[in-house]
Amino acid sequence: MTAAVRDLLADLDRRLADSELAPSLKRDYSLAGHTTYRVGGPARLFVTVDDRAELATLASIVARSSTGGGPPPVLVVGRGSNLLVADRGFDGLAIALGGGLTEFEIDGTTVTASGGALLPVLARASVDAGLTGFEWAVGVPGTAGGAVRMNAGGHGADMSESLVEAVVVDLHRGDAAVRDAGRLDLGYRSSSIAMHQVVASVKLQLRYGDRQSSRAELAEIVQWRRANQPGGRNAGSVFTNPEHDAAGALIEAAGAKGLRIGTAEVSPKHANFIQSDEGGRAADVVEVMSEVRRRVKAELGVDLAVETRLVGFEPWELP
Ligand SMILES: Cc1cc2nc3c(=O)[nH]c(=O)nc-3n(C[C@H](O)[C@H](O)[C@H](O)COP(=O)(O)OP(=O)(O)OC[C@H]3O[C@@H](n4cnc5c(N)ncnc54)[C@H](O)[C@@H]3O)c2cc1C
Repeated sequence: MTAAVRDLLADLDRRLADSELAPSLKRDYSLAGHTTYRVGGPARLFVTVDDRAELATLASIVARSSTGGGPPPVLVVGRGSNLLVADRGFDGLAIALGGGLTEFEIDGTTVTASGGALLPVLARASVDAGLTGFEWAVGVPGTAGGAVRMNAGGHGADMSESLVEAVVVDLHRGDAAVRDAGRLDLGYRSSSIAMHQVVASVKLQLRYGDRQSSRAELAEIVQWRRANQPGGRNAGSVFTNPEHDAAGALIEAAGAKGLRIGTAEVSPKHANFIQSDEGGRAADVVEVMSEVRRRVKAELGVDLAVETRLVGFEPWELP
């Protein structure tokens, strides 16, 4: 950590400790339990915000800390289901959404969900409300905010198909704005939401459907996931699929299925998943990623792109 960042974080620490957010402020707080890989080190500062007022307070504090030495490094942590944090941790402020920021409501065909609402819960609740169009999300173990950031999707659909707008809080500017879905650049597992922006809530437009067939679809998706994907400590697909190809099939063809380095291995069940052992190391996960990329390039000439968000790594450690 540079001296400038250390000063910025010390300033931010003081401001948070003097604010209404003080009770939830933690220092050197392990992020492993906040990710599905369950590995990785601590965040220098960690705060949970429970409602929009607390989020606004946080934004104004971070924005004020931004003056002078540049903005402090921030990381929004959802369910951590697409996140790998380095063993050395994250030298910045990690932010989690809790309490009221995990709630949602359904009015007619409109679902308004806080950024921390869980996708499988939203998928089931929308079906219970007689709606269709969000069944695919039952198998994606992330939050609504993380799903917008990643434009999560599956089973032939993604967030962009139902997202109308999102409330985005900018931690550098200290303000909030309603952003139309069309202005979020939602692409394949990508969006224009930046590291310092928090998706506070989302509005989804669904359709009335047939409850029975939607329930059958949910069950089918859950069954398909159980049959085809490993459970346990992973973050779903590690690499995005190249056009007209499946990353998993390429990894298998390159002979990397089952590859193990230290405490991490390419899943023998699905080659685009990496499993981490209990008590494992993020460094091993990232080394497996690098080796898989190297082999797929060497054997098949294809450059795989990493989908998982990697945090706290030095540039030369990245796959
Ligand atoms: C078993 C398994 C299966 C999966 N299957 C799929 C799948 O089929 N399709 C798919 O697309 N993904 C899949 N994933 C990956 C993951 O669930 C999605 O990418 C999900 O959208 C990530 O949401 P999250 O809340 O866990 O985000 P995190 O992993 O916590 O964060 C991911 C990124 O989003 C940012 N972020 C998180 N919350 C917010 C917020 N409120 N505001 C702004 N930025 C935020 C983070 O800073 C980070 O950059 C799977 C993961 C697992 C473990």
